[in-house]
Amino acid sequence: MMVSEELSKILACPDCHAPVERHHDDLVCSQCRRSFEVIANVPVMLRQESQSQLQKFAEAAENTALRDKLAQRPWMQKLVMALRPPHPFFFKGARANREKLCALLEKLSPNPVTVDVGSGIRGKTNLKGMSPKVLNGLIGLDIGYTSHLGVIADAHHLPFGDGTVHGVIIQGVLEHVADPDAIVREVQRVLRPGGAVYVETPFVQHYHQDPEDFRRYTLAGLRQLLGEFQETSAGVSAGPASGLCDMMSEFPAVWFKNPHMYWAVKWLTGWLVWPISWLDFFGAGRKRSHFMAGALFFMGTKSTALKHET
Ligand SMILES: [Zn+2]
Repeated sequence: MMVSEELSKILACPDCHAPVERHHDDLVCSQCRRSFEVIANVPVMLRQESQSQLQKFAEAAENTALRDKLAQRPWMQKLVMALRPPHPFFFKGARANREKLCALLEKLSPNPVTVDVGSGIRGKTNLKGMSPKVLNGLIGLDIGYTSHLGVIADAHHLPFGDGTVHGVIIQGVLEHVADPDAIVREVQRVLRPGGAVYVETPFVQHYHQDPEDFRRYTLAGLRQLLGEFQETSAGVSAGPASGLCDMMSEFPAVWFKNPHMYWAVKWLTGWLVWPISWLDFFGAGRKRSHFMAGALFFMGTKSTALKHET
């Protein structure tokens, strides 16, 4: 078993938050004795309830079935991936935001430990601007198997000890979860005092099952959700042209009942309207850009002042 050193230092039981110990090939909670498997060096810190809930959502999602079907034909999957239109969002400020986040983290520690909650299939775009030091201590966390994963866990029950983590990033995740307030409380718990959080959520974006899609946040809503943190900055990460571009590529497709037609039309309109998102090069930072922004962000730190637990 080869769990990385920085991960084994902070790993804890997702139920009782006590440290875990090695026991043969498994990890065992030192308090409640619950045991967790390690598969291909990735600890599976899932509670039974989380697994069955995820299964329920995944079975209901139309695109999960299509994705599975596509995975059976690798050549077709490769073709679809190569020819699919670019993402309709032009993330103008995201790079600068992540640079700011890394500066905050490197002030906290020369070797900061950061958790990427809901890391998914980690592409190059959603980590642009991250410094080598922060990337070095970055732990990918997701509820299912993906590439570049450090630990499998449910964000509602993070498998880390109290005050053990320097930074948390959560990008495009909170719209897909059952209880975002519970996740924010978990982030508060695992962060060290002064630790930083970076959240990105879509605003003007179509309904997308991954495997389920529950909500959108306005800028005020995002600020309210993360009200316990001291705000460093908040605003637009993909501007109004990105929102418009997404709506325009979605609108013709939703007329079709057949899932293959839906995706085919989206493919075509996706390419046609994509240049519209480039307008965000100029328009993403204006006063009213957040009124119809594609995506919004919040960056903040955990208060260093002691607070009474309620
Ligand atoms: Zn336990």
